[in-house]
Amino acid sequence: MARYTGASCRVCRREGQKIFLKGTRCYTDKCAFDRRSYSPGQHGKGRRFKMSNYGLQLRQKQKVKKIYGILEKQFRRYFEIANRSKGITGEKLLELLERRLDNVIFRACFAYSRTHARQMVRHGLVLVNNRKVDIPSYSVKPGDIVQLKQGEKLIKNAKETIEKVKDRGVPDWLKGDLDNLRVDVTSLPKRSGIGIDIQEQLIVELYSK
Ligand code: SF4
Repeated sequence: MARYTGASCRVCRREGQKIFLKGTRCYTDKCAFDRRSYSPGQHGKGRRFKMSNYGLQLRQKQKVKKIYGILEKQFRRYFEIANRSKGITGEKLLELLERRLDNVIFRACFAYSRTHARQMVRHGLVLVNNRKVDIPSYSVKPGDIVQLKQGEKLIKNAKETIEKVKDRGVPDWLKGDLDNLRVDVTSLPKRSGIGIDIQEQLIVELYSK
């Protein structure tokens, strides 16, 4: 259950792009990347160098890990499963990551960020097929019904969250019923619908050395 607990905004600045780790703050003028879009650290501003192939591959891997909030060991495990599966390894890897329960809660607009979604799952607020599931890495499959637990305060909080983030939209592999705090998994996520700026092929190259 380990996770990255360092400064989120530092990650965006390191990767040179906004990766939206802090929920609504990311869309305001308080975003650290908008204010200081150079690398973090004492020499970050003046640092200019051409990155090696290895560097490019490493940065892509680190970025994906940070986006989904997982550490090396678990990420490696996802890669090995993807590598053994039929199809394009990089796309399979992203599919596995997208199917995580915490990601589904985030994608369904029930949470501000994946970190928030993870906390909701850990606190037992999420039901899958009417049974409580408190494992953020739980992998959903087509036909699953994901719902938030009922409760006056919880419903109020969830509706407030949805109101703030619903412009993000729900991807086409999920069928959202935001009024009833429910989302149906209709298919497996496709690469074209994931919509994250990642060169997954570089991660495959890195692990294939
Ligand atoms: Fe990244 Fe900006 Fe969000 Fe911080 S506020 S996590 S810099 S997008």
